[in-house]
Amino acid sequence: ISLIDVSKVYNQKDNSTFHAIDSVSLSINRGDIYGIIGRSGAGKSTLLRLINLLEIPSSGTVIVDGEDLTNLSKQKLRHARQSIGMIFQHFNLVSNKTVLENVLVPLELARYPKKERLDRVREVLRFVGLEDLMSKYPSQLSGGQKQRVAIARALANKPKILLCDEPTSALDPNTTKEILEVLQSIHKELDVTIVIVSHEMDLIKSICNRVTIIDNGQVYETVDIKPKGIVN
Ligand code: ADP
Ligand code: ADP
Repeated sequence: ISLIDVSKVYNQKDNSTFHAIDSVSLSINRGDIYGIIGRSGAGKSTLLRLINLLEIPSSGTVIVDGEDLTNLSKQKLRHARQSIGMIFQHFNLVSNKTVLENVLVPLELARYPKKERLDRVREVLRFVGLEDLMSKYPSQLSGGQKQRVAIARALANKPKILLCDEPTSALDPNTTKEILEVLQSIHKELDVTIVIVSHEMDLIKSICNRVTIIDNGQVYETVDIKPKGIVN
C-alpha cells in the first residue's frame, strides 16, 4: 500500500475548508501489522478510509497491490475493494440478518459462485470460532462475538488486506485480547496484511511491527517497533 502526497479536504458548513488529511505519504509492506495512532480527531479514520477509497482523496495517489486506485473506473474499483476487508469499532453488522446472512452479503456482492457460498461462510465462521452461532441475530451476541462476525464478513472474499478502525475500542480488556489474537492468526495463517487504527498505545505496541503517528492530519513520525506480544 502506498499513499503518495494524499490530502482530504472537507467542506465545512460555513463554506470554509478543513484539511482532515494533509499531504500524507506512507508505505505499508506486504506482511505488516501496521499501526496508525493519534489522538481523537487527528485524521486516523479518514486516513484508513482513503486506503480503500471509502473516502475519495482530494489530491494525491493511492496504490494498492500495484494498482492506482485513484485512476480506476467504478467497476474496477469495486473489484479492487474486494481484496480489502474492513472492520469497525461498532461492528456495523446488519441487525435484521443472521450471522450467516451477514457473512453472505459480501459473497453475494462479489458474485462468488453460488454453490460455494455456504461452504465459504462455514469456513470463515469456523476460523473465528463461531460456527455454532450461524443462525443467531447480532442482538443475541456479545461484543466480542459481534466483532468476530464482522471479521468473518471482512474475510469472506479472501482479502489480502484487512483494515481495522478502532477494532477493540468498544470491548473490555479480555475480549480485546481475544480479538487481537484473532487478528494475529489472520496475519499468520492467512497471510493478510493488517492495518490498525487506534488511539491506544498498548494495543499498537502489542502486535504492530511498524507504526505511524498522525497529528493534525499529518504524519508526525513513522517507526519500526518490535511487537511486545499480547499480554493480560
Ligand atoms: P480520528 O479517526 O483520528 O478521530 P477522523 O478521521 O474521524 O479522526 O476525523 C478527522 C477530522 O476530520 C475531525 O476533525 C472530523 O471532525 C473531520 N471529519 C471527518 N469526517 C468528516 C466529514 N465527512 N465532513 C467534515 N469533517 C469531517
Ligand atoms: P470515529 O470517531 O468512530 O472514527 P466519527 O464519529 O469521527 O467516528 O465519525 C463518524 C462519521 O461521521 C464518519 O463517517 C465521518 O466521516 C463523519 N464525520 C465526522 N466528523 C464530521 C464532521 N465534522 N462533519 C461531517 N461528518 C463528520
